[in-house]
Amino acid sequence: MKIAVIAHDGKKAEMVAFLLNYKNQLDKVDLISTGTTGGHAEKAGLKVHRYLSGPLGGDAQIAAEAAEKKVDLVVFFRDPLDKHPHEPDVQMLMRICDVHDIPLATNPASARLMMDGLLKRSEK
Ligand code: PGA
Repeated sequence: MKIAVIAHDGKKAEMVAFLLNYKNQLDKVDLISTGTTGGHAEKAGLKVHRYLSGPLGGDAQIAAEAAEKKVDLVVFFRDPLDKHPHEPDVQMLMRICDVHDIPLATNPASARLMMDGLLKRSEK
């Protein structure tokens, strides 16, 4: 199972809290992320493959994996109260998820539901 995680700056603490909540289960998950989000996850003790930072193309790299259906879930905690220079990449990633029917969670409540569902499915 491969899960991509991305968090805008105002949401990075929430992302770390979300991930730590699933720390044990993440052992059997390939975690990929944009650069800075992944740095935070690593500092929290998680193993993660880090792509470029979002503004430098990290969202686009994750979208490329999603387009090849190599990702089971994208968790993207966007900050709706901030502006982002790479907004076109953000939109592109979300569009690619819709094109390829990849589960996409943009806030912790939906991320928990999707994560629980995926983990349950993988137990069967
Ligand atoms: P970052 O990128 O993890 O490198 O900060 C996230 C983003 O797309 O803004």
